Amino acid sequence: MNDALEVIRVPARRGRMVALNAGDTVDVVNIHGGQVVDTWAFARDNPAEYMSMEHSHVLHYRLNFRPGDALCTDRWRTILTFVEDTSPGIHDTLCPACCAPSYTIFYGHEGYHDNCSDNLKGQFEALGVPFHRVPTPWNLFMETIVENSNDMKDMPSTTGAGHYVRLRAEMDCYFAVSACPQDLIVINGEDGVPRDIALHIRRRTGKLVA
Ligand SMILES: [Zn+2]
Repeated sequence: MNDALEVIRVPARRGRMVALNAGDTVDVVNIHGGQVVDTWAFARDNPAEYMSMEHSHVLHYRLNFRPGDALCTDRWRTILTFVEDTSPGIHDTLCPACCAPSYTIFYGHEGYHDNCSDNLKGQFEALGVPFHRVPTPWNLFMETIVENSNDMKDMPSTTGAGHYVRLRAEMDCYFAVSACPQDLIVINGEDGVPRDIALHIRRRTGKLVA
């Protein structure tokens, strides 16, 4: 089987959505370290069906997923597999995507602020795919931890330059990311500066041979 590597650079504060076929893998690469990446997947045969953090929690009965875990949709179909992780391994599954009102309401920002929700919507428009909602993302590299079995706490991402998470599509899907533009709290590393990320996609284009 032959793998063709496709490299996509996603600029800081921006989003990207790509169509994956079952069997394709994608590495979400933290080029500079410290960057949170909101991550979603949607079924190609029904873009209203989305990778669900809540359903995936129940599938494994834990809050943080581990390599080897399947991620499922809101209809319980397996959509991605978490294959490999070279980062410190904390990827928030609880926080909703940032949106324009969240910057105003929580952080007092005046005027429009780039945000992951609009980045996702923009990618649906760019690909001409019907948009339904912004599900809770899988916040790769985001170290919001749970203490005392109940208390949530934001920590700066300790992901290093070049660390990546490898995922495999288990069904034909739209795979979307947003390099989170949060620069008002410290989730994007100690300096809080949003940075570029990259997607390394390996497409299963070949045929099985003996
Ligand atoms: Zn964000």
